[in-house]
Amino acid sequence: MIYQGKAISVARSGDDIATLTFDLKDESINKLSSAVIAELEEVVEALQAESGLAGLVIGSAKDVFIVGADITEFHGMFEQGEDQIEAMLERVHGIFNAIEDLPFPTVTAINGLALGGGCEVALATDFRVMAEGAKIGLPETKLGILPGWGGCVRLPRLIGADNAIEWIAGGSENKAADALKMGAVDVVVPGEELEAAALDILVRAKAGDLDYLARREEKTGPLKLGPIEQMMAFETAKGYVAGKAGPHYPAPIEAIKVIQKGAGEARGRAQAIEAKAFAKLALTEVCYNLVGLFLNDQLVKKKAGKYEKQAQAVKQSAVLGAGIMGGGIAYQSASKGTPILMKDIKGEAIELGLREARKLFAKQVERGKLTTEQMAERLTNIRPTLSYGDFGSVDLVVEAVVENPKVKEAVLTEVEGVVGEGTILTSNTSTISITRLARNLERPENFCGMHFFNPVHRMPLVEVIRGEKTGDAAVAATVAYARAMGKTPIVVNDCPGFLVNRVLFPYFGGFSQLVEQGADFQRVDKVMEKFGWPMGPAYLLDVVGMDTAVHAGEVMAEGFPERMASMGGEGGKSVIQLMVEKERLGQKNDKGFYAYEEDRKGKPRKVSDEAAIALVKGVAKESREFSDEEIIARMMVPLCLETVRCLEDGIVGSAAEADMALIYGIGFPPFRGGALRYIDAMGVAAFVERAEGLAEELGPLYAPTDRLRQMAQAGERFYS
Ligand code: NAD
Repeated sequence: MIYQGKAISVARSGDDIATLTFDLKDESINKLSSAVIAELEEVVEALQAESGLAGLVIGSAKDVFIVGADITEFHGMFEQGEDQIEAMLERVHGIFNAIEDLPFPTVTAINGLALGGGCEVALATDFRVMAEGAKIGLPETKLGILPGWGGCVRLPRLIGADNAIEWIAGGSENKAADALKMGAVDVVVPGEELEAAALDILVRAKAGDLDYLARREEKTGPLKLGPIEQMMAFETAKGYVAGKAGPHYPAPIEAIKVIQKGAGEARGRAQAIEAKAFAKLALTEVCYNLVGLFLNDQLVKKKAGKYEKQAQAVKQSAVLGAGIMGGGIAYQSASKGTPILMKDIKGEAIELGLREARKLFAKQVERGKLTTEQMAERLTNIRPTLSYGDFGSVDLVVEAVVENPKVKEAVLTEVEGVVGEGTILTSNTSTISITRLARNLERPENFCGMHFFNPVHRMPLVEVIRGEKTGDAAVAATVAYARAMGKTPIVVNDCPGFLVNRVLFPYFGGFSQLVEQGADFQRVDKVMEKFGWPMGPAYLLDVVGMDTAVHAGEVMAEGFPERMASMGGEGGKSVIQLMVEKERLGQKNDKGFYAYEEDRKGKPRKVSDEAAIALVKGVAKESREFSDEEIIARMMVPLCLETVRCLEDGIVGSAAEADMALIYGIGFPPFRGGALRYIDAMGVAAFVERAEGLAEELGPLYAPTDRLRQMAQAGERFYS
C-alpha cells in the first residue's frame, strides 16, 4: 500500500501499476472537500517519491466517480476574499499539475458521475476510460462560478474550444457516447470491463502504441486555433450564450472569456487567468445566492426523502377532473410510470384531457426522448373513466375538479365512499383550506392537499398541505407520489392559499395599487421582468386567468381580512375585477391586460392592446410617475412580508423551504435566491425601513411584523 487515508487509498500491483481509489468514508458519494484535497496532496507526494512505477489508474469504489467539490464549504471559503480563493485554486492547480506531470502514463476510470472537480481530476490524467452509463460534465456555471481547477484550460485543448464552450457554458451532464464522440474520453466500455480497459490503455502507452507525452503537450500548451477560428468560436459563442443566459447570469460569459484569454497561453498562465476570474465570480451576490439555492435544494430533498422512507408506495392513482390540471396530472403520473385513472363527469372533458396528454407525449417523441412504442406504452397508463367502478384498488386520489368548496366537498365525500379504508385522498385546490374540506370526511386523517402548479409537466413544485387532522401516513404517501412523478414536494401547514398563493396574492395586491395610482402596467411588467421574473404581474395575471384571480382573491380576503380585504380598489373595484366585468379573462379568451394571437407554433403571443390600456387608465385615480426602484419595492415588499408571516406562523418549516417553494412554484428569480434571501441581501433593517415607509401610504400589506422589527434591531438574518 502506498497510501491509506480517509478518502483515498493507493495500492501498488505486482506489475508496478499504482491504483488510486476514491472512497470517502461514511458517505455514499465521493466529493472533493478541503480535507480530501489535502489527502490528494499527500498522495501526489507519495507517488512522486515512489520509484519504479509504470503507470497510474485513478478510480472510485463508489457508484459515482466524484460528484465535484464540496459545495457546503463554498460560502465559508468564499467569505475569505479574493486573495484566499486564488491561493486555494493555485494550490489545487499545483496538485493536479503534479498528477499531469508524473513520469509515467496515467488514466482515469470513470465508473459513474464525474462532475465539476471530479471531471477536472479526470482531465488531469493522460487518458480516460468511461463506463457506458456514466456521465461527465462541468456544471460550475450553474452555481455562478466557472470550472476553477483547470477545466477551462484542459477541456478546450482536449475537445476544441467550441465543444468546451458548449459543455462549460451550458453546465450539461454528458453521456459517455457523447463524451467519446467529442474526444473527452478515449474508450467507453460496459461497467464491468472498466478496470481492464484502463489497464489496457496503460499497456498500450508503455508499448508506445499510445503517445501519452504528445497528449500532455497538447493539454499543457496553447490552444491550437488560428486568429480567424478564434474569432468565430469565441465571438459567436458569446453572442449566443449571452442571449441564452440573460443579463443576470454572468458566469457562462466569463467562462468563455477565460477560455479565450488563456487560448494563446501555456498551462501556468492560462490557469492563473482562470483563477482570477473564478475568484471574482465567487464574490458576486449571484454566486452566493445560487450556491445557497443548491444547499436549500439539498435540504428540501433530504426532508422529502425522510417522508418517502415511511411511505406506503402508490402503485395505482386516480385523478378526479380531466381539465387543465387533471389532464396534466394524469400525463405526469403516466409518463413517470404510475398508472392513473382519470375520471370526469363529461365525456368531452376526458377527450380533451387525453388529447393534451397525447400532445405532450408526441413532443417527447419528436425530441427523441421517447420511442413511439414507449409513448404507446405510457399512454396506456392513463385509464379514462366516467365511473367509480375501478376505484376500489386505488392507493391515492387527487381531486382536481372546479375550485368550488361545495362541489369539492361533495366529490370528496362521494369518492371516500368508494375507495378502500387506507386510500389517501388529496385535493389540488389552489386556495381552499384543507381543514375545511376535511370536515365532512369519515377519515380526515387520510386527507391532505396536493397542490400542483400550471403547467404540471413543467413546474417542479408540489405543495403538500397538512390539514388539522391530516395524519403522517397521508403526508408521507403524497410526498412519495410527488417524488415518483419527478416533482419537488414541500410540506406546508394549512391556511387559505397555503404558502405560494398566500404570498402571490399580496404581490397582485401591490400591482393593483400601483396601477390604480397611475402606473403604466406595461412598464411595471418590463421593470419586474428586468428584475428577473419570467413574466411581469399583468402578463402573469393573463396566464392565471382574471376570473380565477378574482375568485382566489376573495378566498384570500376572507382568510386575511385585516390585510387582504382591500387589496386594490378600496371600496370600489380593482383593476382585476374590472377586467372580469369586461370579459377580459386573459389568455383563456385571448384578451386581458394584453391581447393574444397565435404564433406560428400555435402558441399564444402577447401583443399590446389599446382597449386594455384605455380600460386600465380608467381606473387610475391619479397620474403618477414611478421610478423603477419604487415599482420594485411596491411589488416585492408585500410578497416578501407575506413570506415572513408564513414562516412566523409555521405555515412553512424553514427559510430554505419557503424560498425554494417560491422559486419552483412561481418562478421567483433564482439568482436572487428567494424572498427571504432577498431580504437578507438588502439587510433586514433596510428592508424594514423601506416597508415602514410604504406602509404609511399603502396600508397593512406593507407593515413589517413585530418579529421582523426585532430581527432588524438585533441584526439577525434568515440565513446565517
Ligand atoms: P378545469 O375547469 O379546467 O377542470 C375541471 C374539470 O373538473 C372539468 O373537466 C370538469 O368537467 C370536471 N369536473 C367537475 N365536477 C366533477 C366531478 N364531480 N367529478 C369529476 N370531474 C368533475 O379546472 P382546472 O384549471 O383544471 O382546476 C382544477 C383544480 O385545480 C381547481 O381546484 C383549481 O383551483 C386547481 N388549480 C388550478 C391551477 C390552474 O392554473 N389552472 C393551478 C393549481 C391548482
